Amino acid sequence: MVVVLLGPPGVGKGTQAARLTADIVAEHVSTGDLLRAARRDGTTLGKEAQDFMDAGEYVPDDLILAMVREHFSGISADAHVLLDGFPRTTAQAIGLDTSLESIERQVDVVVVFEAPQEILVRRLSGRRNCPDCGAIYNTCSSPPATEGVCDRCSGALVHRSDDEPSTVRRRLELYQEQTAPLVSFYEQHGARLERVQADQPVDDVYRDFASAVGVAR
Ligand code: AMP
Repeated sequence: MVVVLLGPPGVGKGTQAARLTADIVAEHVSTGDLLRAARRDGTTLGKEAQDFMDAGEYVPDDLILAMVREHFSGISADAHVLLDGFPRTTAQAIGLDTSLESIERQVDVVVVFEAPQEILVRRLSGRRNCPDCGAIYNTCSSPPATEGVCDRCSGALVHRSDDEPSTVRRRLELYQEQTAPLVSFYEQHGARLERVQADQPVDDVYRDFASAVGVAR
């Protein structure tokens, strides 16, 4: 099963994807995480991506598609795959279809996470990430046991620089301009489309998400 997760920054896709990944044994492919890892490792891609990311802009499609293709080559052809933060543009969606066709696969379901904008802004300002293990916390709704310290690996938590209010506004704008149109792209391409209300308690969102992809919880 190949699942595309669509939804604006802060809607909780990453948290939900990590949970489903553990439950159904899937590959969680987050292009944001791959790019942050490339930056930490100081690779050419990381260097090329950093200015775009810091400004809240999209990294160019050709870099993203090359990165995803390379990452896919290490994933077994029959693995369940959850795509989080990719595709973000029509060119990426077309590139994804081409890559999947070449391995006789397709997008099986597209899950659209929805929440009002003021909730997204609030969540992003409280979001804290562990750069070491990828765990995500929120100072209001899901704080770590000790402030600033990851429960899982004791890493020091960070507030992503692109979660600052001015950059957040740009990221939300870009989502509306370039990524929201993918809902009609997938509708026109006959994909199964499911909507999940993400402004509910995290366990309720997960219940709806799991049921949308056909996993009973
Ligand atoms: P995310 O963690 O998904 O919010 O991504 C963080 C940042 O990485 C985004 O604001 C973009 O700058 C960049 N990025 C991640 N995925 C993509 C993508 N599919 N296309 C373009 N830029 C991306």
